[in-house]
Amino acid sequence: MEQTLVIIKPDAIARAIIGDIITRFERVGLRVVGAKFIKPDPDTANKHYPTERREFIDGMGQKTLDNYKQQAMDPVKELGTDDTHKIGLMVQKWLVEFLTSGPALVLVLEGPHAIELVRKIAGHTLPSQAQPGTIRGDYSFDSSALANASRRPIRNLVHASGNKQEAEFEINLWFKPVELIDYNNIHQQHMTD
Ligand code: ADP
Repeated sequence: MEQTLVIIKPDAIARAIIGDIITRFERVGLRVVGAKFIKPDPDTANKHYPTERREFIDGMGQKTLDNYKQQAMDPVKELGTDDTHKIGLMVQKWLVEFLTSGPALVLVLEGPHAIELVRKIAGHTLPSQAQPGTIRGDYSFDSSALANASRRPIRNLVHASGNKQEAEFEINLWFKPVELIDYNNIHQQHMTD
């Protein structure tokens, strides 16, 4: 059994697709064990997207550079730099502004392989590269190039923890232990019969 954190971000709330997103997780057998509908505060949002986690910041910068290269765009011309760290920090700032701009639905989902399963259902970070059938692939065509031209983060509808360590950190950041509720649903019965 694994738990993972999902944030249905302000773009998905604005597009009124909360129900469809949750249905996709429920359909595969994941169980909602925690949920809160909030306007995230800047402190929590900054802890969620930490500037000091170098691999996260540089990873976002690298994804941007890869996307620019693919589209034959010049990062220096568009963003003023081709330094992965500087680009990552720029994106982090946009992300915090965006997450705190509107309501978000924060969920803890539980199930076997929950972390990997949720990432698979969410799809590739860049919706333009996400497969049809995934949340990001079905609902968006956004890309780094489009997003960065408007100085905003990629609107990819959901956040999903990347690995076990991230999931643990993020669940503790957004939820107190008493806010998580343990129970069984039909999927547990079905799989253990
Ligand atoms: P994921 O959300 O798939 O784990 P990351 O952790 O790399 O992806 O990035 C966090 C979030 O930052 C993404 O979901 C997306 O909203 C945004 N983002 C990532 N890379 C970029 C980029 N190059 N330009 C704008 N926004 C980005």
